[in-house]
This record gives sequence, structure tokens and C-alpha cells, in this order.
Amino acid sequence: AFDVLVVGGGPAGAAAAVYAARKGIRTGLLAERLGGQTMDTMGIENYPSVLETQGPKFAAALEAQVRSVDVDVMPHQRVAAVEPGNTIAVKLENGATLRAKSLIVATGARWRKVNVPGEAEYANKGVAYCPHCDGPLFKGKDVAVIGGGNSGVEAAIDLAGVVHHVTLIEFADQLKADAVLVKKLQSLPNVTIHVNAQTTEITGDGQKVNGLVYTDRASGESHRVALSGVFVQIGLVPNTEFLKGTVELSRYGEIMIDERCATSVPGIFAAGDATTVPYKQIVIAAGEGAKAALSAFDHLIRH
Ligand code: FAD
Repeated sequence: AFDVLVVGGGPAGAAAAVYAARKGIRTGLLAERLGGQTMDTMGIENYPSVLETQGPKFAAALEAQVRSVDVDVMPHQRVAAVEPGNTIAVKLENGATLRAKSLIVATGARWRKVNVPGEAEYANKGVAYCPHCDGPLFKGKDVAVIGGGNSGVEAAIDLAGVVHHVTLIEFADQLKADAVLVKKLQSLPNVTIHVNAQTTEITGDGQKVNGLVYTDRASGESHRVALSGVFVQIGLVPNTEFLKGTVELSRYGEIMIDERCATSVPGIFAAGDATTVPYKQIVIAAGEGAKAALSAFDHLIRH
């Protein structure tokens, strides 16, 4: 059995594997796709000590570091289920079962898509999902935020301080965010809010985004807004379906963790975007992964 088995090869899983392996304990890492979400990222400019890099380059460096220490790396593998016990059984979709004394789940999350024409075509070419990451790229430009829940309204407030103008598009007939956020948003001079508005297309010139088309659901009329960027903020879905009924999840499906990255099941730890940790960022995921590995090590020496 592994002493520590890490599921997930993004920043959280990679950091966890490096920290565990450096304790000289038997460490494995399995992941569907090494690098995780960083593989879908263009520029990264907010990781300490790294002035500027590209996602795939960052992912390759993560992998190289994991492979430089004593970790049994198993790429292209998906976990189907986890069975707690004295040793934890990790069942893979290919039918195999791996056993471990402790488990670190770092399976990340995925942004919910609006699924309109142009969204996939212009991903990283004006279509963005993370205001903390990509907001500064639109300095002085006009952008839209799709989604009027807390994350959408927070994003619009954040972006209004960076970009020239923000158009917020909400499908429902009112914003669903907390009243205090809505009030703040409404007080900003460079924000236009459209409720009851269904985005039907993100348009571009073949190279990058140049606008968005929405239907006014009350009148049925179609409108076009000229823009340089569209931030899609309609939800971040944690990759935790395989844990339902095994560890405690929040109502959003995030793995509930304490400040040591422990879950509701002894021996199972979790880190990064898959968990309740606030702010889903690379530096945070990496820090959480390190913490989860140290907690797993602490658990092992006490058992
Ligand atoms: P992830 O990176 O999501 O990795 C999850 C890992 O788990 C992957 O290896 C995946 O294949 C694996 N996995 C999932 N399910 C299973 C399963 N069932 N079985 C096996 N393996 C599984 N953050 C920043 O700090 N700066 C940025 O500039 C930035 N830009 C971004 C741009 C984009 C387009 C996106 C999508 C995100 C961006 N982020 C950025 C956010 C950042 O990428 C995430 O916060 C970070 O990658 C989370 O790390 P993680 O290890 O928790 O999860």
C-alpha cells in the first residue's frame, strides 16, 4: 500500500506529492491530466517569484518537479470511488484498485460554461473565467460579466476598478447576489446592468472577442454590446462526484476541510479548488497541497 496516495495532478496535487515524497514515505500520484487547470491557462502573472509564464509551461514544470522526487506517477487515470477503512481503497475507472494508508484528494474544479457560440472558439482570446487572473489584461477596455450571483457581482465590482466599463448580464429578472454587493455594484458609475437577459452569442473577428449578443427576455429583442472581453461567472463545479456519501461535502459539492486540510474521514485529506478553501488560485492550491501532505505525514506517524 502507498503511505500517501494523491489524486489530482494540478498545483495542489503536485505540491502534496513533492512534500510527501520528501518525507521518505511511499508516495503515489494519479491524475486524469497532469497540470490540471493550468493546462487551459494562457498567461500566469500572479505566482510569487514567477514574473510571467504560460499555463502549459507551468504545468510542465510542476510535472518535472514531481518526477524529480520519488513519486509513483500514474497519469491518464480516473478515480471512480473511494472506500475508507484501515487502508483506503481507491477504485479506478479502468477497474484497478489502489490501496493507501492516507489519501489526499486534489481533484480541482471546472468552470460552468454558458454553452453559446463563440465561447469555446474565443477561450483565452477574450473569453475568461477568472477575474483575479485575467482582469488586468483588459485594463482600459470594455468587458461583460455573465452571471449575477455573488461571484458574478463580485467579479463586476472587481473589474470595474480595473477596466473602462463593465456590462453585467443576468438571465433571471433580478440579481441573486447578496444585497450589500448589489448595492455596491449599482453605485459604480462605469457599470451597466441588464437583467432578464439571455446571452445568445459571443462574437469575434476571428482572432479575438469583439462583442456579445443577448436577448431581452421581456421584449424578445436582440441586442449587441461591443466588448473586448467576456467573463463567465455562472459557477465553479468541484470534481468531487466520486466522493458523494464518502466524505462530507458542502452544498456546492466542495470537500469540507478544516485548517489542516482534514476531511470528515480520518486519513483522508483534501486540498485546492475541490475543497471549501476560499479563493481558487494556483498559489493557494499549492499551499494547501503542501499543508495536506504535512497533515497526512502527521497522521501516519500517529498510527
Ligand atoms: P486543478 O488544477 O483543477 O487540478 C485537478 C487535477 O485533478 C487534475 O490533474 C485533474 O485531471 C485531476 N482529476 C480531476 N478529477 C479526477 C478524477 N476523478 N480522477 C483522477 N484525477 C482527477 N489561477 C491563478 O492563480 N492564476 C491564474 O492566472 C489563473 N488563470 C486561470 C485561467 C483559467 C482559464 C482557469 C480555468 C483557471 C485559472 N486559474 C488561475 C485557477 C487555477 O488554475 C486553479 O485555482 C488551480 O489550478 C487549482 O489547482 P488544483 O490542483 O486544486 O486543481
